[in-house]
Amino acid sequence: MDYDIVIIGGGPAGLSFACSMASLDLNILLVEKSTLESISKPKPDGREIALTHHSRKILIKLGVWALIDEAKVSPLKEAKVFDGGSDSLLNFDAKKSSIEALGYLVPNHLIRAALFKRVLQADNVRILNELTVDDVRTTNTGAEVSLSNGKTIKSELVVAADSRFSEIRRKMGIPSVMKDFSKVMITTRMSHEKAHNHIALEYFNYGHTLALLPLNGKVSSVVLTVSTDRLDEMLDLDEEKFNEMASNGFAGKLGQMKQIGSRHSYPLVGVYAHKFRATRFALIGDAAVGMHPVTAHGFNLGLRGQDLLSLSISRALNNGLDIGSDEVLKEFERKQINLSRLMYFGTNGIVSLFTNDDAAIKQVRKLVLKFANRFPPVKALITQHLTESKKSNLIPF
Ligand SMILES: Cc1cc2nc3c(=O)[nH]c(=O)nc-3n(C[C@H](O)[C@H](O)[C@H](O)COP(=O)(O)OP(=O)(O)OC[C@H]3O[C@@H](n4cnc5c(N)ncnc54)[C@H](O)[C@@H]3O)c2cc1C
Repeated sequence: MDYDIVIIGGGPAGLSFACSMASLDLNILLVEKSTLESISKPKPDGREIALTHHSRKILIKLGVWALIDEAKVSPLKEAKVFDGGSDSLLNFDAKKSSIEALGYLVPNHLIRAALFKRVLQADNVRILNELTVDDVRTTNTGAEVSLSNGKTIKSELVVAADSRFSEIRRKMGIPSVMKDFSKVMITTRMSHEKAHNHIALEYFNYGHTLALLPLNGKVSSVVLTVSTDRLDEMLDLDEEKFNEMASNGFAGKLGQMKQIGSRHSYPLVGVYAHKFRATRFALIGDAAVGMHPVTAHGFNLGLRGQDLLSLSISRALNNGLDIGSDEVLKEFERKQINLSRLMYFGTNGIVSLFTNDDAAIKQVRKLVLKFANRFPPVKALITQHLTESKKSNLIPF
């Protein structure tokens, strides 16, 4: 074999898995189609990643958290969800759940840069840039990947982290359910007159959704979700009008708001693979589960998924087992299903409930919000599950 493991994709999931492999006695190759410059010095991309407590622990364990500038990490202390113009409100408060923060907001490009730095410190991981993996073939005895430069690499195991639109998943014959929400998220940074007190706001207005993620200082990331046909209108909206729309959209809570970053847009498509493994092959990150960002769980799930796979591999090594065997991959898959299924389909259910303006659905929405807000045990369970602050009994291991 040329390598023990070939990782396809150097996004946050592929890099995290490479970090997890750094402490094991294995030879790893990571293939990434973009340039070295773009993964070593990623540019701001408008994504502020809300990390759960569990994700923070994994990043600490991997030696990655220490490589992120603490001054750029913003604690999320409270989150308020509003239903259109009605007075229904769901409020999550870290203090009431006896935790210091619901989660931590970190710019995506800083997470990616820290992961890359940590991978560079590992002498058992090699990175090949500006090449794609074009094909993967596996048998019970080994795997082969074909690179775009015509070379073939042999390994014990192939791990694909090549995005929610994974070509390799398709080539390996793994079907997926895909949900095109026909909506687009537009993100940008804005400064504002009044303090946000580290409270996130989410307004499910009729026709569009507006969210505010509080960053350090009087600065927030504003996330606007509109139907795809309004994308150009929103991207082209002049700054004065955009500022006005945001200031009014948050009902003046932040005072006058001013755009200070560029606008980025992301189409909303959810993906759930029918299975997470094949012979000597595993899926991680968005290639396995591509979440709708509303519950802020895409990377959190990706991080936990790669952690599960690395723990299965590490146990196999300790017991002298083949790291690419069905036995090892089945264990990973079972845990990944337990971890992600409820979260994925539950999130899609929340999106349908909160973005459907049918009169009957609006009534159901009000009832759900009232019920969830007035019953502290329900709220505590949702908070625990979303923040992963304690082992939630919804995750059975
Ligand atoms: C607006 C927005 C907000 C979000 N907020 C949050 C949040 O608050 N919390 C959270 O947990 N998550 C959040 N997410 C989700 C998170 O950003 C993603 O889950 C995460 O980036 C996925 O990482 P990945 O490595 O799986 O995939 P990607 O980032 O898509 O990386 C895939 C990589 O594979 C490479 N590649 C593809 N094909 C090949 C090939 N054939 N050969 C070699 N390389 C290949 C690509 O170049 C790319 O670098 C958000 C997402 C969006 C869009």
